[in-house]
Amino acid sequence: MNQVILLKDRPKGKPSLKDFEFTEEEKPQPKDGEILLKTKYVSVDPYLRGRMRNEKSYIPPFEVGKPLESGIIAEVIESKNKNFEKGDFVNGMLQWKQFQTSNGNGLNKVDAERAPLKAYLGVLGLTGITAYLGLDKIGKPQKGETLLVSGAAGAVGSVAGQIGKIKGCRVVGIAGTEEKIDRIQEKFGFDAAINYKTTNNMKKAIAEACPDGVDVYFDNVGGEILDAALANMNKYGRVVNCGAISLYNKTETPTGPRVETTLIKNSILMQGFTVRDFVKDFGPAQNQLAKWMEQDKLSYLETVVEGFENIPQAFIDLFDGKNKGKMIVVV
Ligand code: NDP
Repeated sequence: MNQVILLKDRPKGKPSLKDFEFTEEEKPQPKDGEILLKTKYVSVDPYLRGRMRNEKSYIPPFEVGKPLESGIIAEVIESKNKNFEKGDFVNGMLQWKQFQTSNGNGLNKVDAERAPLKAYLGVLGLTGITAYLGLDKIGKPQKGETLLVSGAAGAVGSVAGQIGKIKGCRVVGIAGTEEKIDRIQEKFGFDAAINYKTTNNMKKAIAEACPDGVDVYFDNVGGEILDAALANMNKYGRVVNCGAISLYNKTETPTGPRVETTLIKNSILMQGFTVRDFVKDFGPAQNQLAKWMEQDKLSYLETVVEGFENIPQAFIDLFDGKNKGKMIVVV
């Protein structure tokens, strides 16, 4: 039999295990032109929370009673498609099932020789590419500038900070535990770090950690931390709105200070994006990230959870900051 995870209910506030349902189905058989895939590594990501709402977005919402999906590395265990061989590993948006068939559309083969397979869900996958392209297309950090990164110990933030160091910036990170604060400075070379959970005045803490002001703010969290960062931006600063995890579980429309006069007075560019805006740049971005890894300029952390049955909990744990680096489930 084949285990499958369905969306049982649309979460109200923070997701909980009761929003998910485990079910079983017959193990599928590939038809002509199809491959049979065995799930190996599952990426759980904050943006999946947005897909659990019944709202129009850049990607369709999940349907209640249907399987969830996310980025998955799977092994081809049977092939009736000439483009794939048994033993290939592929990466793509796949369902939370132990086994599934595919006609191969939207799947990319991954090179297990170049990097560990899990890396294709993190530093060499969508999160690493998001950090790279968010900075390359919007933040444009220059040597000598100050880059501030929130969610700095997470999958995207830890890569964004290291790219800032490669570009010659002073890099300051914001994260939610002392262990993360130490780790991003020791392992990733951040110049300073702020624990937002123990700091009662973020505006002042950012001003102290960034004595020359902030030129680029790479924002993964939104909300009050964004408000505090905006108050510290330099003239011609750039704000990269990558994510807003502090708002994802809100049940009411969030409110906050008006930003327009701050943006006008300081000629600040503030731009949101989804990494899919830049699909044609994924290949070069991944290549550059892999080169930096080979040159020991870029490293990464992973929090690896074992067991298909733990996928929902691993996803929920993102909202409690239980991951360092990329959260991945090994099946
Ligand atoms: P992370 O690996 O950063 O994991 C989430 C982290 O967010 C947690 O570990 C936690 O760390 C922090 N967090 C959770 N709740 C809050 C909160 N209320 N306030 C502040 N921090 C919080 O996830 P990713 O790197 O995968 O994603 C980071 C962000 O980037 C997300 O917002 C995501 O949606 C976005 N994203 C955007 C993409 C795009 O195309 N624009 C693509 C990929 C991701 P801590 O202990 O520090 O609180």
